[in-house]
Amino acid sequence: MLFDAAEIARRVDALAGEIARDIRGDLLAVVILKGSFVFAADLIRALERAGLSPQVDFITLASYGAGSESAGRVSLVRDLSEDVRGRTVLIVDDIVDTGRTLKFAREELLGRGAAAVRTCLLLDKRAKRNVAIEPDYVGFAIEDRFVVGYGLDLAHRYRGLPYIGVVVPTTP
Ligand code: 5GP
Ligand code: MG
Repeated sequence: MLFDAAEIARRVDALAGEIARDIRGDLLAVVILKGSFVFAADLIRALERAGLSPQVDFITLASYGAGSESAGRVSLVRDLSEDVRGRTVLIVDDIVDTGRTLKFAREELLGRGAAAVRTCLLLDKRAKRNVAIEPDYVGFAIEDRFVVGYGLDLAHRYRGLPYIGVVVPTTP
């Protein structure tokens, strides 16, 4: 286990406080599925407690590759239903690794005419970054380990774990 449920809850509250101090008024939260649905559910409610009431929309992105390495190509699997033109948008995602997914999402939204795009990531694997992008809000910086739980999966499993953990391979 890397972060238990209580630790995550405290950090999500603090993040929401930071965001609510910086951003006022109209905000559209764009949640990147699937990995960030658990984080987003907690963050959105923490934002309400902090006095910010964002609208919420969802986009599904996939980066294809083998196993637990994220690949080069990002593709749009399911689109938003809202128009982002002229709006302040907060991208909510689970983890930034190489940075390609985040860069793709940010450029896509700016390309559609969003007035401003901020980014909020629960986890940041800094060591793996290979495109120039820095998230605005980060929950926890972590080492280059494959993590699961709290929305993050390994082959579609473990998303429901209440904590964030590292997968330890078992030796036969
Ligand atoms: P990037 O495009 O920044 O290389 O990768 C971002 C995506 O790769 C994340 O949204 C996530 O889907 C996946 N990813 C990267 N690292 C991890 C990890 O440690 N665990 C899980 N479950 N997914 C990861
Ligand atoms: Mg993801």
